[in-house]
Amino acid sequence: MAATQLLSSRRGFLLSAMPRPLSFAGIQFDQIRRGRSKRRYLHIHGNESTARDVLREHAKSHAGRYFFVDGQKRMVPVGDLAIDPNRMFTSEGARKSLARNNRDATPAQIDASMALLDRDRSAFVKAVLPPKGGLMVAMHNNSAGYSVENEIPISDKVSLADKEHPHEFMLATNEADFARLARGKWNVVLQKTVLQDDGSFSVLSASLGLRYCNIEAGTGNFNKQKEMLLFLEGILP
Ligand SMILES: [Zn+2]
Repeated sequence: MAATQLLSSRRGFLLSAMPRPLSFAGIQFDQIRRGRSKRRYLHIHGNESTARDVLREHAKSHAGRYFFVDGQKRMVPVGDLAIDPNRMFTSEGARKSLARNNRDATPAQIDASMALLDRDRSAFVKAVLPPKGGLMVAMHNNSAGYSVENEIPISDKVSLADKEHPHEFMLATNEADFARLARGKWNVVLQKTVLQDDGSFSVLSASLGLRYCNIEAGTGNFNKQKEMLLFLEGILP
């Protein structure tokens, strides 16, 4: 191959290997691509730093595509308003989150933020969804006020092997994934039936029939969240 050809094909390779910046209604996401895999990983709440740290470390040794919301805050700006980014994946859920978190917003401000979200949603979802049969893994942290207890009433199935630690649990939208995860020593819930559209990625996945797992751990519980993620990698296809 001539030197110029080699140079241009190498440039082409570098460009294809370097992910393009990804944004959703102005919300920026960092991407990491490692190898070829049907795994996708999402860190959607900027304030959940333990989950980010676990996932960043994981990305050094596990193939897949990783998406990290920019910034350190939970709420992110869309137009003039603020939204919980894990409430923007459906139109109905986004409208509820905007109304709840922006009490003084005018209808015009809500409509303007909704227009930005509706404009970008399908392209963003297409960019982050795994290919057919693949798995999306989302990483979250929680503290007082939220645990697996909140999810039990809205779950199809529940397995509480670690009920002394309700802040550490996994949520699956696929029944076969739930059955495998429930073989372990962790709390697991199955939510394949959408009871309420809250705009979260889990609701989007359940309504599309996609495989999605969420790993929740208490803030600061790095080692346990890491152990849960490694368990999931080993037991799910
Ligand atoms: Zn979260």
